[in-house]
Amino acid sequence: MKKAFALLLLTVLCLVNYFQNSTPDQDPYLITDYSRLHPIKVTRVVKGREEEQLRDILQEAQKKHLTISIAGQRHSQGGHTYYKDSIVVDMTSYNEVMEFDPEQKMIRVQAGATWKDV
Ligand SMILES: Cc1cc2nc3c(=O)[nH]c(=O)nc-3n(C[C@H](O)[C@H](O)[C@H](O)COP(=O)(O)OP(=O)(O)OC[C@H]3O[C@@H](n4cnc5c(N)ncnc54)[C@H](O)[C@@H]3O)c2cc1C
Repeated sequence: MKKAFALLLLTVLCLVNYFQNSTPDQDPYLITDYSRLHPIKVTRVVKGREEEQLRDILQEAQKKHLTISIAGQRHSQGGHTYYKDSIVVDMTSYNEVMEFDPEQKMIRVQAGATWKDV
C-alpha cells in the first residue's frame, strides 16, 4: 500500500514537472539553465550591449522594484542564476576586446566574452 502511494506520488510529481517544464524553448519568458531543472518566469530577457544601456536597465529595475539576473552562456546547472520576475540581462553580446598587449600577455575584455571570443 505504501509502495503504491509512493509510486502514485512520484508519478504526479513527474507529470507536474513535465507540464511545467516541457516548453521552455517556446516561451521566451520562461528561462532555465543548462540543466533545465528549474524553469523560472522572468519579466523579459534583454541583450546587454553598451554601458549606457546596462545603466538604463538597472535604473528601470530599481524604479519598478524588479530584480536583475545576469546570464552568460547559461551553462550553470544549479538553477540559481535566475530570479523569478526579474529582468534577465544576457551578456553574450557584451564581448568586445578592450585592450590587448601581446608583450605583457594581457587582454582586457568585456564581461560577456568567452574563451572563444578571446
Ligand atoms: C557539460 C558541462 C560541462 C562543464 N564542465 C566544466 C568544467 O570542466 N569546469 C568548470 O569550471 N565548469 C564546468 N561547467 C560549469 C560551467 O561551465 C560553469 O558554470 C560556467 O562558469 C558557467 O558560465 P556561463 O557563462 O554559462 O554562466 P551562466 O550559467 O550564464 O551564469 C553563471 C553565474 O555567473 C553569473 N554571470 C554570468 N555572466 C556574468 C557576467 N557577465 N557578469 C556577472 N555575472 C555573470 C550569473 O549571474 C550566474 O550567477 C560545465 C558545465 C556543463 C553544462
